[in-house]
Amino acid sequence: MILVHKIELVPNNQQSNYFARACGTSRFAYNWALARWNEIYKAGGKPKEAALRRELNSLKAEQFPWMLEVTKVAPQQAIKNAGEAYSRFFKKLGKFPRFKKKGILDSFRADNGPAKAGQDAVPVEGKYIKLPRIGWLKMREPLRYEGQVKSVVVSRRADRWFAAIAVDTDQLPHVRKNHGTVGVDLGVTTLATLSTGEKITGPKAHKALLNRMRRLSRSLSRKKKGSANRHKAKQKLARLHAQIANIRADALHKLTTGLVLDHTVIGIEDLNVKGMARNKRLARHVMDQSFGEFRRQLEYKAKWYGSTVVVADRFFASSKLCSACGVKNPAVVLGVSGWDCPSCGVVHDRDENAAINLEHWAVSSTATACGSESSGCAAWQRSETMPS
Ligand SMILES: [Zn+2]
Repeated sequence: MILVHKIELVPNNQQSNYFARACGTSRFAYNWALARWNEIYKAGGKPKEAALRRELNSLKAEQFPWMLEVTKVAPQQAIKNAGEAYSRFFKKLGKFPRFKKKGILDSFRADNGPAKAGQDAVPVEGKYIKLPRIGWLKMREPLRYEGQVKSVVVSRRADRWFAAIAVDTDQLPHVRKNHGTVGVDLGVTTLATLSTGEKITGPKAHKALLNRMRRLSRSLSRKKKGSANRHKAKQKLARLHAQIANIRADALHKLTTGLVLDHTVIGIEDLNVKGMARNKRLARHVMDQSFGEFRRQLEYKAKWYGSTVVVADRFFASSKLCSACGVKNPAVVLGVSGWDCPSCGVVHDRDENAAINLEHWAVSSTATACGSESSGCAAWQRSETMPS
């Protein structure tokens, strides 16, 4: 099983300078591949990422000699990623690939290519990692997992650098605690409501930080273009964005890990449908992202610990069904926090009721698939996940 540990790096000026150049090269190769891909496609051809890698390789010494300054694996991996982005798009798993912009999700592959059998892709010792063209470099903490180091991706968040180190290991980060079943309703104000009635509010610092972000972006818009003050304000804002993203990611990880460790069957809703029902643009964008990330984390962690995630059908009206008597109440609309069932009179909390319905759905789906509820449907194999 491949686990990824993301560790903050402590580069000196020269090293961070190299990182920035490698990110630039990686971004250039990605964008070059996208442009060529679209060109070939328009001309009626069938683009292939391997062919594009060969093409750029044959061009670079003459046309883009500066590319030789960084590890060749960086542009190669970028083109592989571009190919992956297209194949995700064609499988309807992702949006049409877009050109990368400087400063947004900057990253590059920093090892020397695939690890040979029995060898680490790069040496890691205690709090130090040795990267090609850079040498030994300090990390904020030692690598958490034991095993073969498969790959290293270096990325930037605001002004900090991180290494995502993928390790092939038998270690599971946690031990399963319970074998329950649960339904989960995701929301904006409440991060998640469980069918047990438990509400997970998510990080508290969140609102204060969002207010600060609003203030900062207003002050940024008042600064003169090209001025030193504007640059400073921009960096401040980027750091805050990174901080908020970290807090959010941390809360999601805690939630998804907790869910799989305590439950063998987890019911969730079709999150695309829910995302579309909202109207505030920014909130929706942020929410869509974290809903997608929630499902991604839940699914890969479920595989590790042998849990089953059941995604309810997009026509399943989880919030409109009475979980007590099963009657459908079309009067339940967005924004309603609670309702009385017109048929049996039970008083519902909207989100908790939805979560209970999702649990019922999940349990009945696994029961039909396996013959009985307790026959151990969770026969998942441990499987590999690649670094994202
Ligand atoms: Zn009812």
